[in-house]
Amino acid sequence: MDQAHTCLECNTPLKGRLDKKFCNDQCRYLYNNRKKRKHEAAILYINSVLRKNRSILKTLSPIGKTTVRKKLLINSGFNFDFHTHIYRTNSGMIYYFCYEYGYTLAPEEKVILVTYQPYMNPAIHKLFGNKNE
Ligand SMILES: [Zn+2]
Repeated sequence: MDQAHTCLECNTPLKGRLDKKFCNDQCRYLYNNRKKRKHEAAILYINSVLRKNRSILKTLSPIGKTTVRKKLLINSGFNFDFHTHIYRTNSGMIYYFCYEYGYTLAPEEKVILVTYQPYMNPAIHKLFGNKNE
């Protein structure tokens, strides 16, 4: 059975070719523009999450390697869904980074906080510079 064939923007029934998606160029423009805004909004949102995550990691681990309870990160508003890059150790441990601050999950609902080290990837490390630069 034929699906209702309507404009993606205004839902007006469309006549003619079944691959037609819009009544006219205006509907096409409005639809694509809104889709783009959503996409842009997602980027802005994720950027803000990454910035907040970095700030939380920095606050909790100002001097390098620290172990904290996972709950402390969660209560601070840390979002585990997003990170900028990872580092996998030879033994298979994965560190998740939000810029130069990272973490790995440890037993007993704990998290080990670290900062990005030159040996992980010198080029990436160089981006962050020294602490006081
Ligand atoms: Zn339309």
